[in-house]
Amino acid sequence: MAIKIYIDQGHNPRSPNTGAEGNGLREQDITYAVGQELATLLRNNGSFEVRLSRPTPETQVGTTNAGSLMQRAQAANAWGADYFISIHTNAAENPAANGSEQLVFRLSGAAYQLAQSIATQLAATTGLRNRGVIARPGLYVLRRTAMPAVLSEIGFITNPGDAALMSSRPDLFALGIYRGITSYLGL
Ligand SMILES: [Zn+2]
Repeated sequence: MAIKIYIDQGHNPRSPNTGAEGNGLREQDITYAVGQELATLLRNNGSFEVRLSRPTPETQVGTTNAGSLMQRAQAANAWGADYFISIHTNAAENPAANGSEQLVFRLSGAAYQLAQSIATQLAATTGLRNRGVIARPGLYVLRRTAMPAVLSEIGFITNPGDAALMSSRPDLFALGIYRGITSYLGL
C-alpha cells in the first residue's frame, strides 16, 4: 500500500491568502516550486502517492483566507492522507533572523518524530541553521488535519542568504524534506 502524502504549498498566487514578501521574492512562489520538486521526488520513490494543494501555478485554493486554510485540511482529510506536509517560508522584522523551523500541534507523537527528522535532514541538505521543532497548536492546518501534520518553515524570506538559496535551489529544500520523510519511515 502506497503511503499517501498530502503536500500543501503554503498560500495562493493571488489574494486571498497570499504569503510574505522579502528580498524581491514572494513566499507563494517558493512554496509552489518546493512542493512540485518534493512531489517529483516522492513519486519517483515508488512507495508514495502524492497530492498537492496547488497542482498548477495558477491554482487558487479558497475564496477567503479562512476558507483557503479549511479547504487544504479538508482535502487531505477527505483523501485519507497518511501525512500532511505544509511548506512555508518564515519572515521577521530583523533581516538577520535565519534558518529552518518545523511547526507541529504538540511536541510528541508521530508528527513530532517526523518533524525532528525533517529538521535534521533539511539542515544537513541545505546548510541552513536548524531552529528545531516548535509547538503551534493554534495553526489551522495543524489543528484540523486528521493525520500527522508538519508545517515546515524552510527558511526566512526576509534574510538575504536564506532567500537567495530558496529562490535558486528549491530542489535542495525539497530534497531535505524528502530525506526527512524517508528517514523517518525507514525507506
Ligand atoms: Zn506562510
